Amino acid sequence: MLVNLTDVFTSDGKVVEQPFSYEAKEVFFEGKGYPVKECKTGTVRISNAGQGKALVEAELKLTAAIPCDRCLREVEQPFDLHAACEVVSPERADAEALEEQAAFMEGYELNIDSLIDNEILISWPMKVLCRPDCKGLCPVCGKDLNTGACGCDTFVPDPRMAAIMDVFNANKEV
Ligand SMILES: [Zn+2]
Ligand SMILES: [Zn+2]
Repeated sequence: MLVNLTDVFTSDGKVVEQPFSYEAKEVFFEGKGYPVKECKTGTVRISNAGQGKALVEAELKLTAAIPCDRCLREVEQPFDLHAACEVVSPERADAEALEEQAAFMEGYELNIDSLIDNEILISWPMKVLCRPDCKGLCPVCGKDLNTGACGCDTFVPDPRMAAIMDVFNANKEV
């Protein structure tokens, strides 16, 4: 959704608060899309911060379906987003400010969806787990170990192989 900021840029003390809906069906992280399961109506507040300047604050709660890092089961990951940034009107902005706001300002218009996309990237969890003690998949047969042991022999007697397995397991612990 686009919101024209001309009025807020030019009116001292002006504050605009309005609801917005985030229309994206997927959220993106590192080039991959994840379905949006639930998305509430957000609120954006835009306040004048001097001539040609505005403070933008947006809040939105949404839930995305992301696979568990260990067992790949779908996890409903909640996002409680609070974006805040200062924007400058195009005729007053220097090159640095223009570059900083290029992702979500189109001339005098604020693109709220882009602002939210950016906030999702910043808020992306380090780890997505279906539960804190998820046992993951067997490295040999791929069975989901949360549903029981598979009986694979994962004991590696050769010390050189053991070192390789350590590296493998360390990499698995994303
Ligand atoms: Zn899991
Ligand atoms: Zn197995």
